[in-house]
Amino acid sequence: MDSATSSKVVGVVALRVRADSFFSMIYQTGYLANGVLVVAEDGTQIIHKPIVNESLDRTIVSGISNDSFLYNEDNFYAGRRFFVSRSKRLENGWNLYYYVNRSEITSDVISILISDIIIAAFLFAIAYFIATKYANHLSKRITNLNDMAEEIRRGKFDISDMDNYKDEIGQLSESMTDMSSQLREMVDEINLRNQEDLLMKENDIHYREWLFDFVVEKNNDILAVLSDGSFSPSFVTSNVQDVLGISMELLKQDIRCLELAVRQDQPAEVNLKDVIEKCVTTGEAMILDEIRFENIRTNEHLYYRGVVVNTIDDGGKRTAIALYDRTQEFRRNHQLQEALNAAQTANKAKTSFLANMSHDFRTPMNAITGFNLLIDKNCNDPEKVKEYSYKISLASRNLLGLLNDVLDMSKIESGKTTLDIQEMKMGQLLEEVNTVIGMQAKAKNQEYIVSTQELIHDRFMGDRQRINEILVNILGNAVKYTQEGGKIEFTIEESTTSSEGFNNLRFIIKDNGIGMKPEYKDKIFDAFSREEKGATKTIQGTGLGMAITKSLVELMGGTIRVDSEEGKGSAFTVNLRLQLAGEDEIFWKDRGINSFLGVNSIVEENVFFKEKMAVAELSGDVVTSGKEALDYIKNSIRTNRLVDFVIIDESINDMPLEELIKEMRGIKQNENCLIFVAVTNKNAVEKELLTAGANMVVQKPILEDTLREAFEEIDEIKAKEDAQKAENTNPLEGMKFLAAEDNDINADILTELMSMEGATVTRGVNGQEVVEMFKAANEGDYDMILMDIQMPVMNGYEAAAAIRALDSEWAQRIPIIAMTANAYADDVQQAFDAGMNAHVTKPIDIKIVKKTILQFKGN
Ligand code: ADP
Repeated sequence: MDSATSSKVVGVVALRVRADSFFSMIYQTGYLANGVLVVAEDGTQIIHKPIVNESLDRTIVSGISNDSFLYNEDNFYAGRRFFVSRSKRLENGWNLYYYVNRSEITSDVISILISDIIIAAFLFAIAYFIATKYANHLSKRITNLNDMAEEIRRGKFDISDMDNYKDEIGQLSESMTDMSSQLREMVDEINLRNQEDLLMKENDIHYREWLFDFVVEKNNDILAVLSDGSFSPSFVTSNVQDVLGISMELLKQDIRCLELAVRQDQPAEVNLKDVIEKCVTTGEAMILDEIRFENIRTNEHLYYRGVVVNTIDDGGKRTAIALYDRTQEFRRNHQLQEALNAAQTANKAKTSFLANMSHDFRTPMNAITGFNLLIDKNCNDPEKVKEYSYKISLASRNLLGLLNDVLDMSKIESGKTTLDIQEMKMGQLLEEVNTVIGMQAKAKNQEYIVSTQELIHDRFMGDRQRINEILVNILGNAVKYTQEGGKIEFTIEESTTSSEGFNNLRFIIKDNGIGMKPEYKDKIFDAFSREEKGATKTIQGTGLGMAITKSLVELMGGTIRVDSEEGKGSAFTVNLRLQLAGEDEIFWKDRGINSFLGVNSIVEENVFFKEKMAVAELSGDVVTSGKEALDYIKNSIRTNRLVDFVIIDESINDMPLEELIKEMRGIKQNENCLIFVAVTNKNAVEKELLTAGANMVVQKPILEDTLREAFEEIDEIKAKEDAQKAENTNPLEGMKFLAAEDNDINADILTELMSMEGATVTRGVNGQEVVEMFKAANEGDYDMILMDIQMPVMNGYEAAAAIRALDSEWAQRIPIIAMTANAYADDVQQAFDAGMNAHVTKPIDIKIVKKTILQFKGN
């Protein structure tokens, strides 16, 4: 039995034990003050341990011994004052009885109870203490958990595991720590993402703001936002300062100050200030189609379209003012309008020009028909017929001039004019111009002064015909618009330019004629313009000459300027930058000279001469005696290398000069060789030497210019002789022409003119027919082909090309001359490209035709 057992165990345990140990044990095991009685089978008391109450003990022992107690089936007897418990009979027949005083049990129980209560109280106190301690401990841990949870709730995830126990709370704390660190990672990641998103959004916003500023600043569009009915804008684009010149401070105070930049000519019904006020107060939206601004600082004129709208959002009521820049659009429209006006004006000018033209065309036409009638009536009076036909030819020329001008102008206007740049001689060109103008000036009794002292070079690269046209136009006007007896000065100056090989030619044409009003000076180069004044009205003109002239000058990269004073006269200055042509080479080649022979007994002079000739790209040699010279020429004829030019120095001493010249002339096939003799005293020997057969006697020393002048002198003599011959003889006499001409009248005129010159014309009505006729002919049947260009079936270019493509030497050789109304440089070029040899414009001038034909006669 342990001390914690609170109940009294009553019973019998049957053990076979040693008697003394057993009994001592029985004595010792008495817990209460119980009595023990062991009775043998025979009723002998083996052992007796009495209770304290001796009388009661005797009563009990006697009752046991007498077996007077009535035991229940549990061998228990409850007396009034005592309890007896009987064990089962032991093996040896003994009975063991425990008995106890009932009152003793009560006090025992009470003392046990008290002690139990005390123990319980003590235990409870201990338990309470321990429980309180434990509860405190637990509650602290739970509080910690709670704190952790609170920290987590507050978003602080840096918590550490403060509970080191391994129980559920410890595990909970550990899980919470884990959870917080996981949460922290998650939150960190979310924050990072948020930050990135935020950054992107910020960038986005920055970009949009930048884009907005950029667009606004580039566009000059103005935007402003007014909030809650205030006229002080909460936002206004900064470009407004630059665009309208109004300061930002002023605008920020009151947007209505935009009105400051509105132009005076703004239509009254569109008032920006009123519109803004109305929209702000009524909440209406309005559109202004055209607001005319003027930058108050630069005075630049600007055009805007305005929109004022109202919105209500979280920020309250707002009014947005958007002003869209339409200046470019307006200017474009303006330009288009101007272009339209210009086109209408040009149209009007053309209409009036046509009206003028019809008058101008009719005048010469009247003359032609009128004089024709007169010829008819006076056909028997040769003097009158001659006079009328002369007048008809003048009127025709006038008509042709007009026609050419109109065609020229339309070609220039359509940008189809091209230049025909070739080597040209300025001297020759000026001569042609001066001949024409000189005659015109003479007819008006005007003084015509030409000054070419400052012209250095003769040969240039240029469009000779076009330069001629420019000069004749200006000079012709000078004559036309200068009164009888007036004065016209024509000066040509040459100066170098910064580009090597190019010189500037300045042509100054001055007159003391009627001059021009300053305002007309600006219009002089407009097509179809003429100064509207009495003096001009009486002078015939189309108003095209100057326009053509300016276009041609500009086509050549030159400039033209006019200075004029009404009543005093005008001065036109044309500057042309022309390339210099390689003079020497052309000079010789132009004269058909390719080879030379120098005859000089002085070797050094010969060497020097040979060098000069080599520079001019001539082939040839030098000899030192007359005999050598004759042998050289004979030998060159034998080897078919004719000498074109011989220069004999007077130093030759193996034979007299006259004899040498005569012998040279006598050599067969050497007739065309030019023989020059260089002497120190020209006057003394010239006549004899020329008589002997020399072409020219030149004064020593022989410089380049000396030879040049000599040749030019020969050219002049030859030209005079040719002119004389042409007048005396009829070069076309007996010539046979094959002509392509689709127009019957033109064909009749051609045939008539040619027959007057003694030539015959066989006509084909188109290119195809002429090609067939040529194919059917024998060599020599025709001397030349005259080819119209615009013809049905096959045009002139195709026909010429077809003839040149034929497989016969004659077809390659026969001269083909284009005769056409297509008179432009590119038409001429096209004719050459098709294999033709020359180009003559229609209506044909028989003199020009004759001259051209003569160039090819005998080919
Ligand atoms: P046109 O002579 O056929 O009328 P132009 O184009 O050659 O046409 O000239 C245009 C106008 O310029 C002339 O009508 C004339 O009023 C003026 N003009 C040209 N040259 C002179 C000049 N030398 N002196 C005065 N007026 C001139």
